[in-house]
Amino acid sequence: MRCLIIHNPASGPRSDEIFAFAHALSRADDEVVFRFIGDGMEPEDATRDARSFDRVVASGGDGSVSSILYQLRDTGVPVLVFPSGTSNLFFNNIGNAPEPAALAQACRAGKTAQVDMGELSWKDENGEERRHGFIIIAGTGFDAEIMQKAEASHGDMGEIAYFLSALSTPSPQVAHFTIEHDGQVDELDGIGCMAGNTAVIQNEINLFPNCRMDDGLIDIAVIEPAKLVELLPTVIAGMLDPAGKGLGRPQFKLFQAREARVTVTPSLGMEFDGEVIPGKPTEFSARALPKCLNLIIDRFSSLA
Ligand SMILES: [Mg+2]
Repeated sequence: MRCLIIHNPASGPRSDEIFAFAHALSRADDEVVFRFIGDGMEPEDATRDARSFDRVVASGGDGSVSSILYQLRDTGVPVLVFPSGTSNLFFNNIGNAPEPAALAQACRAGKTAQVDMGELSWKDENGEERRHGFIIIAGTGFDAEIMQKAEASHGDMGEIAYFLSALSTPSPQVAHFTIEHDGQVDELDGIGCMAGNTAVIQNEINLFPNCRMDDGLIDIAVIEPAKLVELLPTVIAGMLDPAGKGLGRPQFKLFQAREARVTVTPSLGMEFDGEVIPGKPTEFSARALPKCLNLIIDRFSSLA
């Protein structure tokens, strides 16, 4: 078996576990190639000959994994996501057993599921068209602000950083959204608009109740204006009702689409999978890339 492991050595405190994985994986007659992304090696360099391998392992946190997977879209190569970052939400969504030895076993077995990615496109500060894949969420407004604030405390706070930062936004900016989704147009006021590929955001909290990463659709959520006091119950409700079905999400307007084009006035900043996009785009598109990834799963996976 020829296995390519693409690893971000700066991914976080669990960064060394990938070596335990490689140890558990390796057998006679295998070829295991390590490529370390960072300065001098971008995900596109590391994945150039990916099709010549039997397996590719994407190891890092959500940001690195998102960038690696985007490069691997439509290659058909079985890809294993290895959770070595501070936040591994996408891995949690896949639901594989997290121990390195168990992941090595799944990698060798090579059982896969076809899943979607989202793709975000926007114009940068110089008016150039830009594109990037996302595996969890991309969006504008409240969400970008949460991510920005969370960044500073990311290393220490890990998974609860997002919620703490949500609570420290006293009066979020309200903007007007025009959303064209699969031929329909909606005009809404809101403090943010997110496109989701997967449902679970943090700590089992389900932001998009019926969201699946294998239905060929992205889930759009517009967060309607609310004072922090009104937002609080959503956070608490999410903790009490992880599946998001009983209590509902009254402040969210939700819909599903293959593709959506969003205009926002004024710009509220943008992010994808926790990475903040420089500049202030006032327009973006998000679409589903259906079944573009061939993800390795085990019998615990919700995708099985
Ligand atoms: Mg979906």
